[in-house]
Amino acid sequence: MAGRDDSGTLEATVDIFDLVHDSIFVRDRAGYIRSWNAASEALYGWSREAAVGRLVNELLPPRRPERDAAREAELLETGRWEGRLSRAAADGRMLTIDARWSVRRDADGAPVEIIETGRDVTERRAVEEALQRSEYRYRNLFQAMAASFWEIDFTPIGDMLRELRSEGVTDYPAYFAANPDYVRRMIRATRVVDVNEQTVALFGRGDKGELLRDLEPFWPDESLHVFAASVISAVTRKPNYVTETPLRTLDGRVFDALFTAAFPPESIAKGTLLIGVIDISDRTAAEAHLRHSETRYRNLFHHMPIALLQLDMRPLFDKIAAMKTAGVDVADKIATDDELLTEALRLVTIDEVNDAAMKLFGVTDPTALHGPIEPAWQARPDTIRRSLLARLRGEPGYVEETKISTRDGRVVDVLYNIAFPPTLTELGINVVTFMDLTERVETQAALQRVQADFARAARIATLGELTASIAHEVNQPLAAIATNGEASLRWLGRPEPDVEEVHTLTGRMVADARRAADIIKRIRGIATPSAPTRAELSVNALVEEASLFLRHEMQAQGVTLTLDLAAGVPPILGDRTQLQQVLVNLMVNAMQAMAGAGVTRRGIIVRSRAHGTGAALEIEDSGPGFAPEHLGSLFASFFTTKADGMGIGLSICRSIIDDHGGQISAANAPAGGARFHFTLPAEGTP
Ligand code: ADP
Repeated sequence: MAGRDDSGTLEATVDIFDLVHDSIFVRDRAGYIRSWNAASEALYGWSREAAVGRLVNELLPPRRPERDAAREAELLETGRWEGRLSRAAADGRMLTIDARWSVRRDADGAPVEIIETGRDVTERRAVEEALQRSEYRYRNLFQAMAASFWEIDFTPIGDMLRELRSEGVTDYPAYFAANPDYVRRMIRATRVVDVNEQTVALFGRGDKGELLRDLEPFWPDESLHVFAASVISAVTRKPNYVTETPLRTLDGRVFDALFTAAFPPESIAKGTLLIGVIDISDRTAAEAHLRHSETRYRNLFHHMPIALLQLDMRPLFDKIAAMKTAGVDVADKIATDDELLTEALRLVTIDEVNDAAMKLFGVTDPTALHGPIEPAWQARPDTIRRSLLARLRGEPGYVEETKISTRDGRVVDVLYNIAFPPTLTELGINVVTFMDLTERVETQAALQRVQADFARAARIATLGELTASIAHEVNQPLAAIATNGEASLRWLGRPEPDVEEVHTLTGRMVADARRAADIIKRIRGIATPSAPTRAELSVNALVEEASLFLRHEMQAQGVTLTLDLAAGVPPILGDRTQLQQVLVNLMVNAMQAMAGAGVTRRGIIVRSRAHGTGAALEIEDSGPGFAPEHLGSLFASFFTTKADGMGIGLSICRSIIDDHGGQISAANAPAGGARFHFTLPAEGTP
């Protein structure tokens, strides 16, 4: 950077600027960068050669260029602007910068240059904000004169500097850096003119006089650079210099101090300067603690197996606050205004993401996710609307099953979860978690397929049972027909009445009946599925499986299923599929009875109990129950009271329970609904 000896204000700027930790650069009114210090190179990753002559917004693309106009206006009106801005560094990282702009004007007062001092707060922001309150507190302390004040006579230093210059030294910062002994000599040459009571309390031993001497005992070696920087600030006519540094009491105790050197023109003219000191060792400890928990948080954040995003909510919060001030019903607006929702999706930005989030969103570089949340919510922007409304209602958080759009073009089912703890809200950040539900959704789909398969299998099984039932029920009448037919033949075979034709007909009847019996026998043989298997089964597990198959249907029909399953029900030997079919049939009947009667409070209770060495089960519903005259016929094949009923369900149930050596019965429950009771002995066969 070129020195500006002509103006005098930026004397020896090259080196001083390079000495400062903060980025400092100068641009002209049109935005072209004129000078660029070493800290700017480090911060933004652009060398001085690359930066000087470029337009600042081209070199460092701002996240929100539209805000520049307002800043510029404030700058020109008041001569300075201070605030936070986000802009991209050479490597594309978005940096958060605490910036101060000031204008340098020419002799006519026309603005010539804008000087920007900037500090990278990208990393430290959260900690810093947590500290803001305590900083505020000690600013108050300062005003309450709790700070230690020193008035220092620095005329001897002025003499030393003049002498240095006459020896040809112009680059003070470099000289001071290379000659710590010289800085030490300046410290010894500096006289304390006056101190306040706080200074005596903080540095001394009760006697103010002890402190009115040179600065030597108060200045530990690790703080030499602070003294040097104060001197440089004074000669470059900065209004003040503030830093944190260790200082030492007369007793030799070293503590962390907030050090301020102020150079008001009146005292400079007198050859004195003012120093303010505040003991911040407590705060430093708190900060260290905070940093520690920050590290813990970060570790946790990055290694959690759940996708986490950290959001910067402040721009949106500002917007909402402004709307509230303007008297807008914010909740109503968010609920109805799509443009506002879109704006919100752009104002809320992603600051930080963990590995799991990168995987979920299909990126390999975390910064690819930084920026507005909008792209993630293409499929379901409404989720954010509901989430914001929940926040405005003061709810502690919001959860929703939704879909996000990934950066590689997929739409993924997720469980979105955001909490609104006041501590985070104060900081303007929020952590959002996403749980990938793809697997769960797939499992559910698979389960539904299984359910459908089961229903089909059950139907086929029912067909088998149907044939078996028909065979069982029809065989006996057929046998009777045959017997009676044979008897008739004998009657008709007597000599008195000539009933030749009847004889022939009856003969055919017998033949047909036999053939029918044979056919049914064959059908039964074909239809009977492979021999029923017997396995040791947990009755409670059976009930749970069977209710799983109907869960969907019950939800759809508003039926509440209560499982009252006793512990310690002994296992039984049985055919899993057949017994499940019994349970499913009974529950389906119950649902149909309740729906048919238009019952509004629909409930099914399934109870299991130990019964001897086996089990007993009961299925009770809140439907209309049975008409007393039907109780005797329920289990008969083809008994139905339904227009489209077949009347075989219960008969199948009975034959299955019979096969298992148990007994089934039906009754009206005391409350009025139907209650089926059946037993299953441990051995599984009669
Ligand atoms: P379907 O359901 O085809 O009629 P089922 O053998 O399953 O044949 O049932 C026979 C009859 O028993 C039904 O029509 C109905 O009248 C009666 N029934 C069965 N379960 C219940 C129940 N939970 N509540 C009232 N009636 C029932």
